[in-house]
Formats: sequence, C-alpha cells, structure tokens
Amino acid sequence: MTTIDQVKTKFRSIHFNTIAYRLEELLRQAGESELTHLQLADLMVEQELRGRQEKRVSYNLKRAAFPVVKRLEEFDFAFQTTVSKKQVLRLLDFTFVDNRENVVFIGPPGVGKTHLAIAVAVKAVEAGYRVFCSSALELVEALDLAEMRGQLKQKINALLKFDILFVDELGYLPVNKKSACNLFQLINALYEYRSLLLTTNKNFTEWADFFSEDAVAVPIVDRIIHHSHIFMMGGESYRLTKKIGSDRSG
Ligand code: ADP
Ligand code: MG
Repeated sequence: MTTIDQVKTKFRSIHFNTIAYRLEELLRQAGESELTHLQLADLMVEQELRGRQEKRVSYNLKRAAFPVVKRLEEFDFAFQTTVSKKQVLRLLDFTFVDNRENVVFIGPPGVGKTHLAIAVAVKAVEAGYRVFCSSALELVEALDLAEMRGQLKQKINALLKFDILFVDELGYLPVNKKSACNLFQLINALYEYRSLLLTTNKNFTEWADFFSEDAVAVPIVDRIIHHSHIFMMGGESYRLTKKIGSDRSG
C-alpha cells in the first residue's frame, strides 16, 4: 500500500518540491472538481512550474541587491512630467534587453531617476531577467580592488553574467584616471553584449569633467549612447517639494 508520504518523498527526490508540498491539496482539488487524470497531471506540472518561477524571481531579486524596492505603480507621473508613463511602459516589453540596448536616465537630484530605474529593473527581474544593481561609487571601488588584485577580468566576467547591469548615480563624484580606465574596460565588455541601466546627473557633454580626461570619457560615452534609450528628466525635486509641502502644512 503506497502512502501519501512515500509519494511526496519520491517527488522531493526528483526536486518536484511544489508538487510534494501541495500534494494533499492537489488531490483534494482533483476530487472536488472531478478532474480527469490528464487535467490533474496538467495541474500538477503547472503548479511545479509556477513554484519554480516564483523561486527564481525571489532569488534574482535578492541577487540584484536593490538598495530599496521601488514600484512603477508608486511613481507619480503627474508630478514628473518630463517623461511620460507611456515612454517608460514601452521599456517593459524588454526588447531593449534582448537587443542589448542601454537605458539612461539623466537629470538633477530628486527628480525620480533612481526610482524609475529601480522600478524598471524590478519588472525585468519579475520577467525573468537577471539584474545586478550597484551605485557607481561601489562599482568603481569593486573594479579598482579587483584590478589591484590582478582580477579585473574575472570581476568583469562575473558582471557579464547579468542581463542588465544597473549603475546608479554616475557622475556625482569624479573618478581618477585609473578608475576611469577600469570602468572603460567594463563598459567595453558590456557593449552590444549586455544592457546597461544608468542614472546620472551629468549631461554627456560634461562627462569629461568627472572622468578626469576626454581620452577616456569620449569612448565611454560613445559606447553607452550608441544603442540607447535616453530619458532627459527635469522638473522640481520630489524630495524637496514634498518636504516644503509638509513643512508648510505641519
Ligand atoms: P533621483 O535619483 O533623481 O535623485 P529619486 O528617484 O531617488 O531621485 O527620488 C527621490 C525620492 O522621491 C525617492 O524616495 C522617490 O521614490 C521619490 N520620488 C521622486 N519622484 C517621484 C515621483 N514622480 N513619484 C513618486 N515618488 C517620487
Ligand atoms: Mg538617484
């Protein structure tokens, strides 16, 4: 006589964990809804596939290392009028990732660049893409450290495993020549191979200032903008406006 626990153990041994976990429920549902054997088989495999998909997404969300999770649904397009909701939604078919194109949000502090970039990146993870998020500062530090250890190539290769590399706040702090060269090697490796999602407060014409010299800034900019969707954002700082608003009302 086969027991339900024995069957569950067998499912677990071949890593069908969702089916193992839900077996009683699935069998009850099959009885109550008078499912055919084929329908039950289909239900089981569907549950297993969905379970795996959810697990993959939650693993990739952790791996993406977002500083905070921001949602597109929380973004107020009535406040930020220099980009339209339609323009942003257009990114969500993720052809930009499939075509290895870049997305760049440019604008002054507080206008929602990081919010939108995180929101798009979260949707990408939910759609099954692998994302890695880093502040420009942390990224430059990590590349410099790897270079010092003679492991720059390995570090870059590790970053190339992600479909989207999300670099937040490039341009806030200047980088020295050595760091700019390391960054260039990364950008060069990503070029036409992976997508870069970038936020920056600097216009491309100002990039030479923080890359210490034109000789490195120009080829970096060149590769980033060649295949890219550029969102020029302006308007008031959301942070500042809300702060002033709450100070007045409080
Ligand atoms: P930036 O990266 O351009 O400096 P952020 O994206 O960090 O700005 O935005 C600053 C704060 O204001 C964040 O908490 C963000 O969620 C919020 N914020 C900015 N713009 C909007 C908006 N249009 N709707 C809702 N929240 C916003
Ligand atoms: Mg930001």
